[in-house]
Amino acid sequence: MIIDGNEKERAAMEQFHKGNREEGLRLQEEFAAAFREEYKNKDHCPCKKVCLYHGNCKECVAIHRAHQEHVPNCMRPMLNAKIKILSGLTEHTVANEIEPPRENLRKE
Ligand code: SF4
Repeated sequence: MIIDGNEKERAAMEQFHKGNREEGLRLQEEFAAAFREEYKNKDHCPCKKVCLYHGNCKECVAIHRAHQEHVPNCMRPMLNAKIKILSGLTEHTVANEIEPPRENLRKE
């Protein structure tokens, strides 16, 4: 099961946007049920950082909400895809003004 960009969840969102809340909720619960089953015993967290809270979404999100500096690592690809579109407005010249920080990553 692929979580990011999941087709079932995308279909749920499509129904919400059309105003079909009941069908959106039904599809969303199908996604959640499949997620629950598939990730009952395996790692769902794509974060590669050395971190005490790996896979502990409740505490990970609380920490990020608390410090307010950036979002949990798993949300980077989604946000970067949207930022990339906005960055096109300045022909991506913002890349000349920024440098990603060095990160402390887990050994695979
Ligand atoms: S919220 Fe945090 S712990 Fe949960 S998947 Fe994302 S990065 Fe991992």
